[in-house]
Amino acid sequence: MNRRPSSLEARIETVKQAIIRLGDLRPGKLSQQYNVCGKADCRCKADPPQKHGPYYQLSFTRSGKSSTQFVRQEDLAVVRQQLKNYQRLRELIDRWITLGMELSRLKLPSARLGGVSRKPPRAQRVAKRR
Ligand SMILES: [Zn+2]
Repeated sequence: MNRRPSSLEARIETVKQAIIRLGDLRPGKLSQQYNVCGKADCRCKADPPQKHGPYYQLSFTRSGKSSTQFVRQEDLAVVRQQLKNYQRLRELIDRWITLGMELSRLKLPSARLGGVSRKPPRAQRVAKRR
């Protein structure tokens, strides 16, 4: 690897600019479902059944709490774009972190000697568990 700090910094700047340009976003996963209603003579009970739908549902987890939310058909395109932007943000953040770690290794070469993977002494780990 012959990367220079300046080229890494330029690539990080590109990532930052891409993040600034991202539109609305939200996390979640879209799913589709078909329902059966309560009416006895409805088409959803025919043979073969013609269930109602599709209905679109968005599932997401935020701060450890999971929720679902119905999405109207007319909002589908917007929501899909928001989900895409969220994925893009995650990719960009990941790239930034990778570049940042590489840059840090170049700027702080002595940190290598410390050994990032070195575990704390056993006694200390046990004490932390309480
Ligand atoms: Zn029905």
